[in-house]
Amino acid sequence: MQGKEIDEYIKRKYERTDEKDPLEVNQGAIAKLIDLLHLHENCSDVRFQNIAKNIQNLEKLVPNFAIFETQKYDSSYLINFGAYTLSQKSNSLVDAHEFGHMVVHGINGFELREEEYTGVIQRAKAHCISDEKKAEFREYMDYLTNRENGERTEAEKGPLADILSSVFQYPSLAFVNPDGTNSRVMVFPSSHSREYYFDVNNGKMKANIIFDEDFANYYALALNGCTRELGILRNFLGDEWMQTMENELDKASRIIQEPNIDKASTIDAKLSSALLTAREGELPKELPSIERVGQIENEREER
Ligand SMILES: [Zn+2]
Repeated sequence: MQGKEIDEYIKRKYERTDEKDPLEVNQGAIAKLIDLLHLHENCSDVRFQNIAKNIQNLEKLVPNFAIFETQKYDSSYLINFGAYTLSQKSNSLVDAHEFGHMVVHGINGFELREEEYTGVIQRAKAHCISDEKKAEFREYMDYLTNRENGERTEAEKGPLADILSSVFQYPSLAFVNPDGTNSRVMVFPSSHSREYYFDVNNGKMKANIIFDEDFANYYALALNGCTRELGILRNFLGDEWMQTMENELDKASRIIQEPNIDKASTIDAKLSSALLTAREGELPKELPSIERVGQIENEREER
């Protein structure tokens, strides 16, 4: 399927002709999904093209896939929860992020090997603050967290910042200066809370949540052609982290081409709660205050 065929397929499948839609909520959601699928089609990466081309297989993989609008919490669209959230005010980075959650849960069935990804994150963090990278990382953090800095792209302020914050599981970082004092507190322009990424009671990172958000953020960057930002992530987090994301995308591209109905996942309560939780911290936002500060030097020794 391609081009207009996709548009017609989506409209035929999701248009609610039996309901009044005075605020054009349903129409708006459909238009957004269509735009997003065109972004897949026009992406130079063939794996994204495959996802758009084989979009009709989504119903085999995710039988109760539905789109709904998040701006109207009292509407039936939210009650008929399916898989994919859209917001009237969101941009294509955020739309792609939400779709990325659907890919990892709905298409790939969310098979996370918790320990494995915990290791990936630990090594990505170690790479970032290795003797070789640390000075460069600190300099980049200065650039990224300076609110006056007009050079930062939306992709840096949104998905890239959230990925870096997830690797450290802190919404802000401070560096230890050579004289033992701390640097200024650098607050990521977007992030989730400490508790979202880290189980404080058990002293463990929540690798499943981090993987879910990291992939959604990676998906947003890759689909939107943010090669510069992906290069920055590869430089700081290393090849292994990037390869883990790439593998997940490979998997989605393969599965949607040849859906195995026996193995087909259904969007269940687990995904529902993952999406609803994720949405709270979804949009790039300026943090009002510093929750906690990750001490880079100390954390490194703790490991
Ligand atoms: Zn998310």
